[in-house]
Amino acid sequence: MASEVLPPRPGPLSSGGVRAGDPVRAQAASRLAAFDPHPLGAMAQASSTPLPPPPSSTPPLKPASDPRTHDGNTVATQPPKHLLIFDFDETIINENSDDSVLRALPGKQLPESIRQTYREGFYNEYMQRVLKYMGDQGVKMADFKAVYENIPLSPGMRDLFQFLSKQQDHFEIILMSDANMFGIECALKAAGAYSLFRKIFSNPSSFDKRGYFTLGPYHSHNCPRCPSNMCKRKILTEYLAERAQEGTRFERVFYVGDGANDFCPSVAMKSTDVAFPRRGYPMHRLILEMEKSQPGKYQAAVVPWDSALEVCSCLQEALKKKY
Ligand SMILES: [Mg+2]
Ligand SMILES: [Zn+2]
Repeated sequence: MASEVLPPRPGPLSSGGVRAGDPVRAQAASRLAAFDPHPLGAMAQASSTPLPPPPSSTPPLKPASDPRTHDGNTVATQPPKHLLIFDFDETIINENSDDSVLRALPGKQLPESIRQTYREGFYNEYMQRVLKYMGDQGVKMADFKAVYENIPLSPGMRDLFQFLSKQQDHFEIILMSDANMFGIECALKAAGAYSLFRKIFSNPSSFDKRGYFTLGPYHSHNCPRCPSNMCKRKILTEYLAERAQEGTRFERVFYVGDGANDFCPSVAMKSTDVAFPRRGYPMHRLILEMEKSQPGKYQAAVVPWDSALEVCSCLQEALKKKY
């Protein structure tokens, strides 16, 4: 188990004072590029289980669900819905927003004394210290807001949002992120995408009396794989249970992510569901590792992406199959 426990987000430090996230990811990316024979978005290989077909022909849909209201009456006019889940950092936006905010610092970077306080599995606590330091340096709400509003979206993400805004009958969209509510809301509103999301799950954040940006843990959990403040599998499991209680069962679950903490919930997905790991990032690497070490355990179809347009075309195909 220990070998599977990975930090949920790129660690802020590595030896030599270089931030660890990027080198780790770059290594993973180059490793994957070296043996991935499907450069244009086909399924992940290295699995002995039958692989689902490529995005242009997504796995067959299950029979239509039986959507019912709270009182059990069938609603004939309601089309079957899919649940579409997004991660935020390095998925919707093309950066890790916890790094992006450092641009608001007068010197644009953290002192070594703060960076050295990072401990694996305790990223949330580390960010609390970073934000306290930023407050000490006079960084205010408007500064944070300006940064969040200007973080670039990932390639193709704007087009994917455009597509989704026209398909709101078919997708219920939620966001699960280990960033923070304030930053996510700023970024999504600036991108005009905020209203697409039925619910956002992230760490609570606010500005205290001094004007300091403060952060808390999302919840507690028992998952050995995830950092102490958030397990997205727990969030997803609870959400599906809550929606089922309310009469909504989803035809399929689609998950767009990049991180190790996106891998955890995606292991719980079924064979009719689709995981969209960003190609070469930790989620993708962990899926490939599991397909190799425990064939058949990872059930969801896997569609790696470099551009969200690849996600978009897969979702388009999924809708065509049905209607
Ligand atoms: Mg991420
Ligand atoms: Zn977990």
